[in-house]
Parts: sequence; C-alpha cells; structure tokens
Amino acid sequence: MTYQEPDQNGYYGQFGGAYIPEMLYPNVKELKDNYEAMIADPKFKEEFDGLLKDYVGRPTPLYFAKKLSDKYGAKIYLKREDLNHTGAHKINNTIGQILLAKRLNKKKIIAETGAGQHGVATATVCALMNMECIVYMGEIDIARQKPNVERMRLLGATVIPATSGSKTLKDATNEAMRHWINNPSDTHYIIGSVVGPHPYPNMVAKFQSVISEEMKWQLKEKEGKENPDYVIACVGGGSNAAGAFFHYLDELDVNLIAVEAAGLGVESGESAATTALGTPGVLHGSKTILMQTEDGQVVEPYSISAGLDYPGIGPIHAYLYESGRAQFKYVTDEEAMEAGVELSRSEGIIPAVESAHAFAALGKMDFKPEDVVVVNLSGRGDKDLETYMKYGKY
Ligand SMILES: *Cc1c(COP(=O)(O)O)cnc(C)c1O
Repeated sequence: MTYQEPDQNGYYGQFGGAYIPEMLYPNVKELKDNYEAMIADPKFKEEFDGLLKDYVGRPTPLYFAKKLSDKYGAKIYLKREDLNHTGAHKINNTIGQILLAKRLNKKKIIAETGAGQHGVATATVCALMNMECIVYMGEIDIARQKPNVERMRLLGATVIPATSGSKTLKDATNEAMRHWINNPSDTHYIIGSVVGPHPYPNMVAKFQSVISEEMKWQLKEKEGKENPDYVIACVGGGSNAAGAFFHYLDELDVNLIAVEAAGLGVESGESAATTALGTPGVLHGSKTILMQTEDGQVVEPYSISAGLDYPGIGPIHAYLYESGRAQFKYVTDEEAMEAGVELSRSEGIIPAVESAHAFAALGKMDFKPEDVVVVNLSGRGDKDLETYMKYGKY
C-alpha cells in the first residue's frame, strides 16, 4: 500500500472498507469491479479532460499572493478552485462520476447535499448529460439554503427533504442510501466527498487529484520545482484536501496540513474537529474516525461552515492522521471569519467560509522565508455573504 492507494478491499491502514447492507452489495460491487478500468480508458480520460477544460474552466490558476506572503513570511500561493464552474472543487468529482454512470448505463442520479454545493454540482452535470436527478437534503438545510435549493430546481433536479433525525446532512445521506437500496439497477449514487463505502473514497480522490496534478507543473513553472514545502487544505469529508494532497502523498518532503473546523472551540461541545474528538467507528459505509458517544451514537457536529459540519472524515484522512503523514489543525468560527475578511481585504478574493479555515491555519504555523506554501482555495464566498454579514466585523 502507498498513501495514495488503499488495499484491494479499500482499506487505508485500519480505515475504509465497505460496510453496507446486503441489498447494496450488487451496486457497490458493480462500481468496484469497473471503476478503475473505466477511468483508465483513454476515451474516458479524453472526455473527462475535455469537460474539465472547456466546461469547468481548468486548469485553475496558481496565484502568488504577495501581501499574504509578506504578512506570514513565506511564499504563499493560492490554488484557485474558487474559479471553477459552480464555484468550488466539487464539480471535478461530479463530472467524473456522471461519465462513469453513463458508461454503467444508469438512467438516474441520486445525491445527498448539506449546504447544497454538492447538490448544485450534481444537478449541473445531470442537466449537461440529460440524466434524471434527485437530491436529498435535510429539511433544516432546505430552509437555511434557499438559493441553492432554487438553483437545483432551476437546473431540473428534484429536491427531496430528509425529515428524519436532525434533518441535516447525515440524515440526507441516510435517505439517499435508502433510495439506492430500493432502486439498485438503474440508479447511480454520486457521493460528494471521499467518504462512503469502497470504492467511493478512492474514486473521488482520483477525480479530485487533478488539483495536485496541476499544482506540480504550475509550481515547476513558477518556482522551478514541483514540490512545495507545505500544502494546506480544509477538511469536511476531505475531498478538496485529498485532491490537493494526492500527488504529494508519497513525497515525504511535502508537509500536508489538514484543517478541521473547531466551531466554538474544540472543547466547547459545539465543534466539528473530528480527529480531535472522534474515535474509530463506522459511518456511512466505511470505518473511519467519527464523533460518537460511548455507546456509538453519532454526535451532532457544529461549524459555522455547512461544508465542514460533518461528524466524520474520509478514511484516507483518518489514516493520514493516525500515521502522522498529515498534520491536523483546528480553526474556530471566529478565526475562520477573520481569515476570510483578511483574504478579501488583502487579495481581493472573498473565500468560501470552508476555505477560510485553511487560511486561518497560516497564523498557527512557523515558516521560513524561503518556504513555498500552497493553500487550496476550495471555493468562492458568494454563497456565504449572509454569514459574513452576521459576523459583521469588517
Ligand atoms: C463542500 C465544500 C468543502 C468540504 O468538502 P470536502 O469534501 O472536505 O472538500 C470545502 N470547501 C468548499 C468550498 C465546499 O463547497
């Protein structure tokens, strides 16, 4: 095993696997048996790369942030995933999965969404490919995220409220899984992060790995070397981080910094700092680290950012944490908002509140002046204007 590839059962160390009800077994097996060959097919690659270029707008720039560099005393670059179509990295994955679904002759797509970003990215590719699209979303999130609900509807998707449990992302995921169990043959489930049963974590990481693939040649052009000293990314489920880390995972001279949302503080009881607070267990089809009570009830996470408000992390990150390959940092709501305002003011870029967490980690590190640092700017902040307004300190 390398850090990039899990073993044949989908394990990264002790984490991963496919913990699924028997009814889902045929679907997951079909995907597992086919995904590697399909992704490796030159025709697939041509179609995937073509859409990433002309539809999504890749390659995304690697931007040297001069003022941030002066302030933190290192050479800081931003990988501009915020400039992708639909405003974040999520579309890299939904493009890949819709192409797979077509090759598997699926007619319908289901997805789960929290804030609606993955739902919008999924509804977008379904419109593009003429596929029926059903998005499960917690009832509370539907009320909180009206614009994204309307975007999905405008794109032709059906949004179904998840009314069980806390009526948020975890419950939407449960209901999407239930739908899949009942409609196994004609439906593909597009999971939005490096979570879920094997092969999803590996498959999503591969689709997102275009981020670090581009970083390598872009750094070569700008710095004369492919490897930075640090790559920093926020972790909800962990897909943007997995993509930004992927081609550096086995290059041990590159320090990988994963940033989790501490909410009101790691010890406050209102947090989503999974690695700090969690223990090994099974969540949404894989063994990972999750926030749970002693008797195994999932603890409700909290973060100001809906995209990081998840009680687990992908199994690859659980392994990077346990093995020490990545270093984990914890950033509070307040620290993230401050960093979001700082980036807006210093570089003229308003980041998603998720991405702002990665920027807040800059202040928690000691750099040497010659250090090359890449911060993955996972998404743009337009969707978060109300959150910035409520925070108010600008
Ligand atoms: C969804 C989202 C995230 C969190 O998801 P990951 O799978 O951890 O990347 C981070 N940033 C933005 C902008 C998002 O939309």
